[in-house]
Amino acid sequence: MPRTTPPPLLDVEALFPMLKPLRREAVRLHPRRGEPGPWDSSVGGPLSWPASEPWPHCEDSHPRTRLAPADDDFAHAMVPVLQLYARDVPELPFPEGTDVLQVVWCPFDHEAGYVPRPEIYWRDSTRSEPLIEEPPRPVGAGDVYLPDPCVLHPERVVEYPNWDLDDELAEELEETFEEMEERAAEDGSPCAYRSHLSVAPGIKAGGYPSWTQDPYWPTCPGPCGQRMRHLVTIKSAEFDGVSWRRWVPVEDRSGGGTDDGSGDGSGDGWNVLGLPYEERKALQRAPDIMLGDMGGMYLFVCGHGCPGMPFRYHSDCS
Ligand SMILES: [Zn+2]
Ligand SMILES: [Zn+2]
Repeated sequence: MPRTTPPPLLDVEALFPMLKPLRREAVRLHPRRGEPGPWDSSVGGPLSWPASEPWPHCEDSHPRTRLAPADDDFAHAMVPVLQLYARDVPELPFPEGTDVLQVVWCPFDHEAGYVPRPEIYWRDSTRSEPLIEEPPRPVGAGDVYLPDPCVLHPERVVEYPNWDLDDELAEELEETFEEMEERAAEDGSPCAYRSHLSVAPGIKAGGYPSWTQDPYWPTCPGPCGQRMRHLVTIKSAEFDGVSWRRWVPVEDRSGGGTDDGSGDGSGDGWNVLGLPYEERKALQRAPDIMLGDMGGMYLFVCGHGCPGMPFRYHSDCS
């Protein structure tokens, strides 16, 4: 079953023509618990990792937090976080000769941001070679850093900048945003620019990072020295108590919550917050990870052709 984000309640480009040039497309991945195989795109699923290649391990020394390894005298096995095939997300900047992106992380706190440390791998999945059968598992990692296996439902959505609006434009628009928000509330269909019309929350590829705090765009460490390209956002949650109105897919709105009787979940009466906890969690936090307090991790690569496509990441929490 595909997943479809409801159309915006208001036409952003008609209301705010100055945002038109800032339009970007993001691919929402819509993770849902399932049983992905190594040849599927997934969150937390098995990777198509060649048996001949050593499994990645982390040799960092870890800060002594609640999410630290009990014993730091040996290297810790990393765990699968995300696998994206070009056939599902062709928008990614696959280096020539590769057709799959694999993200793993070391599932313990690291000095940088007190979150797991990710690594990315680009690979050619068409080379027929035996795959690793049972990758090593880290010992003593906390559940919040071990993504549960999820299948994906990629969907393209249009975004406009939220925290990435430059200060001048943000100031210019703030009053109009507020008026729009008040009018929508009076009409009984709550709609706010930042929560419902700008940036898609959740786990996604491309588009604008769904920052929890102020934007932090890394600079490429390669010869180009330029601002890097947003590759993937990994968030703890797909929506919050406000943004769900726009971002819960239509298909997930039937047969749950409090319905307005129309049966299609589109009515104002339907409320994801009315779902029993487990049902809501299956939509909101399917992989069951938690970065900081409902925070996120943002992965970046060089978008200007530096050798080896340098990689950086940043994390934040609320
Ligand atoms: Zn580590
Ligand atoms: Zn570069």
